[in-house]
Amino acid sequence: MQIVFLGTGTSTGVPHICCNCEVCTSSDERDKRLRSSLLIRDKGKTILIDCGPDFRQQMLTHQICSLDSILLTHEHYDHVGGLDDVRAFQTMDIFAEDRVAETLLKTMHYSFAANKYPGVPDFKMHIIQEYEPFGVGQTRCVPIRLMHAHLPVLGFRIGNMAYLTDLKKLPNEALPLLQDLDILILGTLRFKPHFSHLMVDEALEIVHLLKPKQTFFTHIGHDMGKHADVEKQLPSHVALAHDGLTIEIY
Ligand SMILES: [Zn+2]
Ligand SMILES: [Zn+2]
Ligand SMILES: [Zn+2]
Repeated sequence: MQIVFLGTGTSTGVPHICCNCEVCTSSDERDKRLRSSLLIRDKGKTILIDCGPDFRQQMLTHQICSLDSILLTHEHYDHVGGLDDVRAFQTMDIFAEDRVAETLLKTMHYSFAANKYPGVPDFKMHIIQEYEPFGVGQTRCVPIRLMHAHLPVLGFRIGNMAYLTDLKKLPNEALPLLQDLDILILGTLRFKPHFSHLMVDEALEIVHLLKPKQTFFTHIGHDMGKHADVEKQLPSHVALAHDGLTIEIY
């Protein structure tokens, strides 16, 4: 299995519009973060987790011309705002929980109409539920419940990799499903507390609890600091992801 971080930024992306902080003006390419999304290539299938507003740019940058399925963590715009651009692909299988699908039925009603305008995206919606595994081809995906402050969202375990973003709390029921991970990817906004996202200390507590071999933080804000400075402050088995980071998992 191969994973590619297509975006590792929080909802605003990094740099922020009109911000002159040292991160937003950094010349280090790793400090330029599109909205968070992960590409997975496994057993002949190409799977995307989340489809934010930078989806089009991410597809062009990585020359991705074939996509089989999109898994959605939740309905916030930084995770679904690129779905209109899925029109470039064939019929797309979308996996999301009920509430997220209902939101899309409203915001993207034109894609679900009986008589569609030619050229609109063609979605095949699959409703998934917490802890009920589903398959994309031969790839088994397990939806993991996460709490994004008061909003229940989903993370996904695929093989020995788990992608958990936009969480403040990991419910106890999720813990048994997150054992023996080679790669844990955790949405971690910054060092200071935030009401709906993990800060670094909270993320490190989860790392301590789950003991994955390697952890990457994603969904990173400009107030996390510069990539080069932050990586020196993290334990050796924990790192910041950056856009384009590609990992082979065996
Ligand atoms: Zn988000
Ligand atoms: Zn900034
Ligand atoms: Zn969110």
